[in-house]
Amino acid sequence: MEIRKNFLVFGKPTISEEDIAEVIDTLRSGWIGTGPKVLQFEESFKNLIGSEIAVAVNSCTAALSLALEILEIGPGDEVITTPITFPSTANVIVHRGAKPVFVDVEKETGNISVEEFIKAIGSKTRAIIPVHLAGRMCNIEDIASIARQRKIFLIEDAAHALETTLNGRHAGTFGDFGAYSFYPTKSLTTGEGGMLITGNEAWAEKARLLRLHGISSDAWSRFEKQDFQHYETYYPGHKYNLSDLQAALGIHQFDQIEKKLAQRQALWDFYNNGLKDLPGILLPPDSDDDQSVHARHLYSIYIEPEIAGITRDQLMKRLRTLNIGTGIHFTALHLHKYYKEQFDYQPGDLPNAEWISSRTLSLPLTSNVSSDDVKYVIEAVKYTLQNLI
Ligand SMILES: *Cc1c(COP(=O)(O)O)cnc(C)c1O
Repeated sequence: MEIRKNFLVFGKPTISEEDIAEVIDTLRSGWIGTGPKVLQFEESFKNLIGSEIAVAVNSCTAALSLALEILEIGPGDEVITTPITFPSTANVIVHRGAKPVFVDVEKETGNISVEEFIKAIGSKTRAIIPVHLAGRMCNIEDIASIARQRKIFLIEDAAHALETTLNGRHAGTFGDFGAYSFYPTKSLTTGEGGMLITGNEAWAEKARLLRLHGISSDAWSRFEKQDFQHYETYYPGHKYNLSDLQAALGIHQFDQIEKKLAQRQALWDFYNNGLKDLPGILLPPDSDDDQSVHARHLYSIYIEPEIAGITRDQLMKRLRTLNIGTGIHFTALHLHKYYKEQFDYQPGDLPNAEWISSRTLSLPLTSNVSSDDVKYVIEAVKYTLQNLI
């Protein structure tokens, strides 16, 4: 096959001229710190998600971390989470001095298993952090109702799930807290950025304090006022604030969300069509019912090496030589060096997660991937499977 000239970057963001103009406007405004554009960004976010409260921070990691801190989770506590996630979901638990308890996932979807969640609940369990993997809503109603019964806090890692809904209700709004990411590969990006939502005003107030050093009023409202105001330190807070420069990049992307989702949906269908019936290639399940919307954040296939005649890593390498960037979401976290050694996990402990871990491969899927790009990826996958070396 003819190799494309330029490399197809995995997770390349779509930045419009309007986004660029807004950033330039901010640069010229005389204020690039946390200020009016962050407030505007929070307002747009609340509108989108249908949340009364949204606290902008500089990453999803910061948002998750604040949630655990506000819930006063610490040494002696356990937090249940999924091993099929980005390391930060569990790192923040360790930062609090608490113990992450990984439970197995559903083989088909990679989302946390409700049965395994129930089995893992013990006297030290304080919270659960599920992930809506790839943009597919996890069994959130079951998880929320069990969490309520057992008095366990629910913090949703909605980093993949900005557009995800169940009966019109957004991912991130079912729990005590929801955390979102605006990292460059996510569907709305501010370069770096995150959002914490909650229905609890007292928690939100604490999050607003903790995101900026724990001091009584943010820098912008101090500079804005004529009179000098002293500030008070209420808590030893963090440096987790989002800047106007970052918010400016994201402000206009809210208007594009629906259009971009429709574009990714079309590419998703294109992949499904082009890759069906390939031996050893399992496509993402189409469990889509009328009730839920999948954010189409990641198109992840599973490669069964015994049937395909090639491993995931080999296919990934071959695609790279054909100028295609791919991703792995994710290698099971309980077997990463730190977690394996520190919490004594062994291969075989979480079989579904490990099965996915060695087989999953995400193909390029963002709104600036063209249907020709997808056609090329499909051709490259087929070519590789037919020309094994
Ligand atoms: C991207 C991601 C994060 C981290 O987001 P940041 O904004 O980079 O901190 C957390 N969880 C999941 C599942 C992610 O994909």
